[in-house]
Amino acid sequence: MKTTSVSITSRETKYSIFVGNDYVEERINYYYKQGAFFIVDSKVASLYRNIIPQDNKRIYLFQSNEKNKTLLSVEKMLVFLKNNSMLRDGIVVVIGGGITGDTGALAASLYMRGVKFVQIPTTLLAMVDSSVGGKTAVNMQGVKNLIGSFYQPEEVLIDSNFLNSLTDREYLNGLVEAVKIACVYDPALFQFIEDNIASILARKKAVMEHIILTSCSLKAKIVEQDEKEQGIRKLLNFGHTVAHGIEMDSGNKIHHGFAVALGMIYESEYALKHKHTDKETYDRIRNLLKKLKYPLEYSPKDRQAMLAAISQDKKAGKSGLTLAVSGKNMEGIIINNIKAKEVIDLLP
Ligand code: NAD
Repeated sequence: MKTTSVSITSRETKYSIFVGNDYVEERINYYYKQGAFFIVDSKVASLYRNIIPQDNKRIYLFQSNEKNKTLLSVEKMLVFLKNNSMLRDGIVVVIGGGITGDTGALAASLYMRGVKFVQIPTTLLAMVDSSVGGKTAVNMQGVKNLIGSFYQPEEVLIDSNFLNSLTDREYLNGLVEAVKIACVYDPALFQFIEDNIASILARKKAVMEHIILTSCSLKAKIVEQDEKEQGIRKLLNFGHTVAHGIEMDSGNKIHHGFAVALGMIYESEYALKHKHTDKETYDRIRNLLKKLKYPLEYSPKDRQAMLAAISQDKKAGKSGLTLAVSGKNMEGIIINNIKAKEVIDLLP
């Protein structure tokens, strides 16, 4: 077993994120023997029967999808914990992707006003993004992540073996968030991704563990400085404003990560046109996304509706959009007061 870790300080708490492979089974056993309760993505539970205990009094299976990311699911988790006599000093281990993580963490934050919990992310998205930062959330009345809290885990355990069973779509969905953070915050990580495309697509453990650990450290650094997204954390929105419009226009047929990749291209095109970045940076981003097999073009079905969606995005203000873009040499830049139409006009 080999792991590396990064420590995160958030408000009064400090916790570690461990990244490695072939080690999580031992940790799961340890927590099981301690009497922990588990909230587990049902797909992960059936794929990894060999490492996830079978115990219907202490393992709650959750079917992960956006429709189930609700307060009702949180309530069912809480009822399960109560009916099986979980005590205040117990611990909840949440195993799954971002949906299970966000929902399970919210339940842990509410049970008896908050019990200890451990995150074991199993999708690449959850490993590089959602397991860091302490945001918990569920959807309400069609609004994504409307209800939530900030609640930090005791530790985050990332085992790259979980990557093997992800579909290509889920794998690329998560990878884009690592590319994004590299574009606005870490030219060295960008270079590393550029230099290791074949290994990344082949899911080579050592390469992926480096990318995951670096992304977690970068996100941790950003979140530590700006938990409430008043300044530097806005950089993490690179690609997401246009992505929001594309997801809406496509009726969510374009999966989030693919919409973000498209968003990164169009937002970079805007930055290039208005001289916030240079051609070399733009070309590197576009070429990297192409080599990683993301789509490079999107034709809107309803430009007006897309314009309205982007203008009403939570990142938009009265005087226009705020975009985070990758400036010259991958330096993250925030641009304010942008007319949404000027961005949409870049789409074919
Ligand atoms: P998800 O949790 O639904 O996982 C995607 C799919 O992969 C599901 O079908 C799941 O069952 C399956 N799966 C999980 N692990 C697997 C494995 N190892 N092998 C095979 N299949 C596996 O979705 P996601 O993309 O991980 O997360 C998306 C959610 O994350 C969104 O709801 C989003 O709002 C949230 N999010 C939260 C934050 C945050 O800061 N809290 C940040 C980004 C995204």
